[in-house]
Amino acid sequence: MKYDNINVNSIVGKIIAEKPEYKNFIQDLIKQTQEIIEEVNKLSIEERQKHLERFSQFVKKEVKKEYELSNVKGKVVMRFAPNPSGAMSIGHSRQAIWNDFFVKKYKGTFILRFDDTDPKIKFPEKKFYEWYKEDMEYLNIKIDKTVRQSSRLNIYYKYAEELINREKAYVCTCKEFNKNCPCRKLDYERNLKRWKDMFHKYKEGEAVLRIKTDINHPNPAIRDWIAFRIVNKPKHPYSKNKVWPLLNFASAIDDHDLKVTHILRGIDLKSSVERQNYIYEYFEWKYPETIYTGKLFFKDIKSKSEIKELIKQKKIDGWDDVRLGTIGALYRRGIKAEAIRKFILGLGINRNDIKVDINKLYAFNKEIIDKEANRYFVVFNPSKIKIQGFKPIKVKVPLHPDKKTGSREFTCKNEFYVQDKIYKEELYRFMHLFNFKDGRFTSKDLDKGAKLIHWLPVSKNLVNVEVIMDDNSVIKGLGENNLRKVKVDEIIQMERNFFARLEEKRKDKFIFVYSHR
Ligand SMILES: [Zn+2]
Repeated sequence: MKYDNINVNSIVGKIIAEKPEYKNFIQDLIKQTQEIIEEVNKLSIEERQKHLERFSQFVKKEVKKEYELSNVKGKVVMRFAPNPSGAMSIGHSRQAIWNDFFVKKYKGTFILRFDDTDPKIKFPEKKFYEWYKEDMEYLNIKIDKTVRQSSRLNIYYKYAEELINREKAYVCTCKEFNKNCPCRKLDYERNLKRWKDMFHKYKEGEAVLRIKTDINHPNPAIRDWIAFRIVNKPKHPYSKNKVWPLLNFASAIDDHDLKVTHILRGIDLKSSVERQNYIYEYFEWKYPETIYTGKLFFKDIKSKSEIKELIKQKKIDGWDDVRLGTIGALYRRGIKAEAIRKFILGLGINRNDIKVDINKLYAFNKEIIDKEANRYFVVFNPSKIKIQGFKPIKVKVPLHPDKKTGSREFTCKNEFYVQDKIYKEELYRFMHLFNFKDGRFTSKDLDKGAKLIHWLPVSKNLVNVEVIMDDNSVIKGLGENNLRKVKVDEIIQMERNFFARLEEKRKDKFIFVYSHR
């Protein structure tokens, strides 16, 4: 709880909200509140805590907000509309997961719609369509219908012609929009001819189709906005058409045509609704309910264009490089879909921008995998030590402290590998084994004063282990023989180190990816 910067206005505001009649003596109220704040400010944190506890029975428990859609009539239809020009990131997953949340809650329909009508700058690539589907499956999102905008170009053309016929759209050959544009005054027959010419005669940059708006709209970007453009050499895996709708046009048509009832949309796209509203007005359609969401700000998570640049420069390995915030990267690191969902839903949806602490995601993940992950010894930067004074022994160590999943066996002679630096004068305890000091066995009993360390018996059967860390560096170590039973994709805890997912079993080494501590 934060105590500093108590604002008198915000407190008085809350009081008035509950007791409007206090407005009549607001000056007194402000004065008294100010005095109380000054008193509170003199108290130490501990003293404030004590007061708070005394009043705790009067403090209203925060009611957990249940998220609901407004204006639900009939079947809910929602869509998630990614651009397959890159891989899905944790940021993109927010819209996908929340759409899925509502669709499941209202037993509605989930449409995955690929917004792939930019074959020039954010051009789509075949593999990303598949990756999106795989990532969504991993995130336990149920897709009822998949739509590719690039397969619907003829539908957009049809609506464009209809708007030209109604003289609500026109082909413009001016360099940029101006209020005295002569094209705007042409009748629909001329415009239909010029529209046909966009497919045959005109070249990229020579003509666009504009939607008629208020030409004095305060936002210049909205004035007669561009609905279609020509792309001479489209970079597109599925279509070589020349005339392409811009996102606002295609999206406006699709939301109506696919009977979308509710849209989740970033607040930064508010002006696109204003644009699309012109089309809805001209066709007398009803715009779907729109729920605006603020932005998520992730520290150190790279954007799609940054990733593309890094891949081009060969600075990262690919879209699932462990340093990235893509779902593929999180999967490699052993971050469970359940944790991602819990994390994203926990952030809520409202219009506020949120600074995201990614450590929360790891904490959720730990809650899940800690219960499941078997424990193994891996010693990084191993050094050998000899312990005198005990007979060679066999020990059984549990695979998991709480689960009865069996045990790992070790045969110990007097040589061990350790990761920690060993000091002569200090008492150590080898986990699950015995205590020693200055290279000599002292006792088998647990001694609370002993420093707990992990170990490996020196043996020919140890496994070479490499771990790809979250900064993509690789650390090397030796692992116990029992690691051979671990399956690829299994997440384990390397005791006293961290959790990691086994990515690859090679003859000469096992490669893991670091999850978190
Ligand atoms: Zn013009």
